[in-house]
Amino acid sequence: MVWKSGPILGIESSCDETAAAVLDSNGAVLSNVVASQHSVHEKFGGVVPELAARAHLGKIDLVVMHALEKAQVEKRQLQALAVTQGPGLAGALLVGVNYAKALSYGLGIPLIGVDHLQGHIASAWLADPTFPLPCIVLVVSGGHTHLYRRETNGECILLGRTRDDAAGEAFDKGAQMLGLGYPGGPAIDQVARTGDRQAVPFPRFYGGRESLEFSFSGLKTSLLYKLRRLAVRLRPEQIADFAAGYQEAIVQVLVTKSLAALKQSRLSTLAVVGGVSANSRLRALLNERAEDGQFRLSLPPMEFCTDNAAMIASAGRQRLMCGEPCSSELDICPMDSSATLSKTSLVTRVVQK
Ligand code: ADP
Ligand code: MG
Repeated sequence: MVWKSGPILGIESSCDETAAAVLDSNGAVLSNVVASQHSVHEKFGGVVPELAARAHLGKIDLVVMHALEKAQVEKRQLQALAVTQGPGLAGALLVGVNYAKALSYGLGIPLIGVDHLQGHIASAWLADPTFPLPCIVLVVSGGHTHLYRRETNGECILLGRTRDDAAGEAFDKGAQMLGLGYPGGPAIDQVARTGDRQAVPFPRFYGGRESLEFSFSGLKTSLLYKLRRLAVRLRPEQIADFAAGYQEAIVQVLVTKSLAALKQSRLSTLAVVGGVSANSRLRALLNERAEDGQFRLSLPPMEFCTDNAAMIASAGRQRLMCGEPCSSELDICPMDSSATLSKTSLVTRVVQK
C-alpha cells in the first residue's frame, strides 16, 4: 500500500500506558494522549501483564478517539498508521497491533510496525527536527540503558549497554525498598528534592577507563544492605537523603558515560531519551554541562520522555518517507531485539526536514 503524505496516527500499548497521537503531514504533533494504568498496577508494586492487556482493551478505542478529536482530524483523513510492534508484553502489544490492523483494513491506509526503542530515539527529533547527525543517543528507560552512535543515514550503532538492570529498573526497585511505591522513578525524583545528595554514599559503577557499559545491580544491593543494617523505620528526612544519594549515583554515571561516548566518538551532539530522561536531577546536570557550549543537547519535553505514541508515529513516518513497504501481515515482536545490536545494528533511517 502506498503512503500519501497526510496525517498519521500512532498507537502505543507495549507496557502500562495506552497511548495514541496524531502528527500532521509535516510531522508536527497535533495531539498526544496517554492513559496511564498506574492505578491498576500500583498495589502489586509492578506491572501485571494480564491486567495490562485487559486495561489496554478497555481504553484503546477511547484513547484513539480522544487523540483524533484533540487533533481535529477525522478518521477518514488519516493517511497512515504506526503501531508499536515490540519489545513489550505480548498481551499488551496484541491489543495495539490488532486494533491498528483492523483500522488500517477498514480505512484502506498503510500500517507500519515500529520498534519501541526506535520510537524513543525518534522522540529526540520531535521537538528539535533539525538536531544534527551524527550524534550520541542515550536511551534510558525501564527496560534499557543503551548508548548508541547514530549515523547520518539514521543507522544506530550500539556503543555500550547495561550488564544487568536498566536505570529505570534501578529507580523502580530502589523506590520499592524505600517504600515509595510504583512507578519508582517519579517518586524518588520527588522525594530526593528535599534530601542531601551527599548524606548517604552509594557505589557507582564505571568499569574500565574507556568502558561505556553500565551496571546498577551493585547499587541496588547496597541500598538493600544499608536498609537491613539500619533495621529501623526511616524518618521522612532520612528517606529523602537515601533517595537523593541513590538518584545521584545513577544520574552521575549516566552523565559521565554519555560525555565519555561523545569524547571517544569525537562528536558534540547528544540526545537523551526514554522515561528516565524525565528525571529532574539528570536534566539539570545535562543542561548544566551543555551550557558551557561543549556539546549540543536534545532532551525531549517531558511528555515525550515516558512512553507515548507521538514518538511511535514519528518513527513510523520517517520510515514511510523513506518508502519502506508496509505489510498487513504485521505481527507482534515481544522480544527485545536490542540484545543483538552489538553484533548487528539497529537501522532507523531518518529524513531530516
Ligand atoms: P518503558 O521502560 O516501558 O519503555 P518508559 O520509557 O516510560 O517505559 O520508562 C519508564 C521508566 O522511567 C520507569 O522505570 C520509571 O521509573 C522511569 N521514570 C519515569 N519518570 C522518571 C523520573 N522522573 N525519574 C527517574 N525515572 C523516571
Ligand atoms: Mg519506553
